[in-house]
Amino acid sequence: MGSIFVYVEHREGTVKKASFEAIAAARSLAPEGEVVAIIVGSGVQDLGAELGQRGADRVLVAEDDRLQFYAPIATAKVVADLMTSAGGGIYVCAATAQGKDVSARIAARLDAGMASDVTALRLDGEELVCERPIMAGKAIATVRVKPGTVRMVTLRPNSIPPLEADPARTCAVESAAMNLDENDLKARTLEIVRAEGGRIDVAEADIIVSGGRGIKGPENWGIIEELAGLLGAAVGASRAVVDAGWAGHEMQVGQTGKVVSPALYIAAGISGAIQHLAGMSSSKCIVAINKDPEAPIFKVADYGVVGDLFEVVPALTAAIRELG
Ligand SMILES: Cc1cc2nc3c(=O)[nH]c(=O)nc-3n(C[C@H](O)[C@H](O)[C@H](O)COP(=O)(O)OP(=O)(O)OC[C@H]3O[C@@H](n4cnc5c(N)ncnc54)[C@H](O)[C@@H]3O)c2cc1C
Repeated sequence: MGSIFVYVEHREGTVKKASFEAIAAARSLAPEGEVVAIIVGSGVQDLGAELGQRGADRVLVAEDDRLQFYAPIATAKVVADLMTSAGGGIYVCAATAQGKDVSARIAARLDAGMASDVTALRLDGEELVCERPIMAGKAIATVRVKPGTVRMVTLRPNSIPPLEADPARTCAVESAAMNLDENDLKARTLEIVRAEGGRIDVAEADIIVSGGRGIKGPENWGIIEELAGLLGAAVGASRAVVDAGWAGHEMQVGQTGKVVSPALYIAAGISGAIQHLAGMSSSKCIVAINKDPEAPIFKVADYGVVGDLFEVVPALTAAIRELG
């Protein structure tokens, strides 16, 4: 079967939770197999030990000052070369924006079969069997990635829990060979400018409170933010709200926004159009607040409150505040 490689994403000296989930997925595929984490960047050597505690057996560190921020061509080349020189294997990566970008590039370089945005995976002999939501989440496709030099998969964040960090678990951390020229660095990120307010990214959040057109106007958006703030949640929005300019595009959940899978998704004043459901129907627990009992969002909700959000949301906020 070969090793199972995990491309690890990091930012500002911290490994992304979704990459720990990818390591857990790799571990689950072959409990006795070798899980090799690949980390590319500058000053990332120290992250190796933590990757070992989360399930990696070996960490390959590709260090280069020019790779401080994500450089798509160079990163794809480094990872593809490492897997090729190891004789291939299985590749797992979080289906984040960066993960999807780099994985597609690696698959093209290696002519490898890939299942993207999967929510479950297992091995059936040498075949990688993956489940992935299709048709805006209305159906689940089972995809089989046939044995080849490399079999690739990107994993939807929040689909598989990360392994608890085991401080007693150690791993080998090795410098990886790299062969980059200027052409490989034609495209690279030079600077990352943070959005004001340090918002939690909906794509990574455990809890999301989303507002829809039922919120009526930007002057009322504060009730969504207040509930989210109290829960330590990210703020999401339907496209109607984003198109109206009441919320930023980075908050949009859905087919043309972000695909999310949090533990808890609270939808207030969102009708539940198919394009919205495409982005959130794999959430673990969905709470819908809508004054229309026929709203389609109730079809996917675990808990539904039929009522006026201007009464229900503040009451929920007050009740949670009372709990301390
Ligand atoms: C190609 C394409 C891509 C799209 N991509 C996306 C996408 O990525 N994400 C997305 O969200 N949409 C997307 N859409 C748009 C989608 O079809 C819907 O138009 C949109 O999701 C509707 O947003 P909404 O639910 O906020 O608004 P509405 O559909 O207008 O629903 C508002 C809801 O609020 C309820 N409401 C009103 N007042 C109250 C109140 N006081 N209390 C409680 N409930 C109340 C109403 O009953 C209603 O159900 C896309 C559409 C197309 C064609």
